Amino acid sequence: MILKDVCKCKFTNSFKLEADFSADPIWCNVCGWNLDIEDFPLSDNLQKELWEWVSEYGNWIDLETDSLKENGLKIEGNHNEKGFQLFQEVEKQLGEKYPIVFVPSKSAQLYNIF
Ligand SMILES: [Zn+2]
Repeated sequence: MILKDVCKCKFTNSFKLEADFSADPIWCNVCGWNLDIEDFPLSDNLQKELWEWVSEYGNWIDLETDSLKENGLKIEGNHNEKGFQLFQEVEKQLGEKYPIVFVPSKSAQLYNIF
C-alpha cells in the first residue's frame, strides 16, 4: 500500500515501528517522519497496546538528573522485548502491503557510555 502526502516523501511504502517520547509509534522509514497510527489498519486493541508501550518509553532514564537509572539497561531491554512482540502482531495485521521493520531503542546504551 503506497501512502501519499503523509510525510516528506512524494509517497512511501516503507515503515518502521519505534517508540519515542510522545509520538505515534509508526514512522516513515525513508524520511523518518512521524506518521499517524490511524492511517494503518490496526485493531483498536493493538493500537491501545502500542500507546501503552510508547508511554513506557524512557522509563529507564531519570529525567530529573538526565541519567540512566540503576537497572536502566534491563528496563530498556524489557521494553524492546515487549516492542518486538507488538511488532510481530503489527506485521501480521498490516500484512505484505505495508512493509515495516522494528527499531529497538538504544538510548540506555548511549547513556551507559558515560
Ligand atoms: Zn517519508
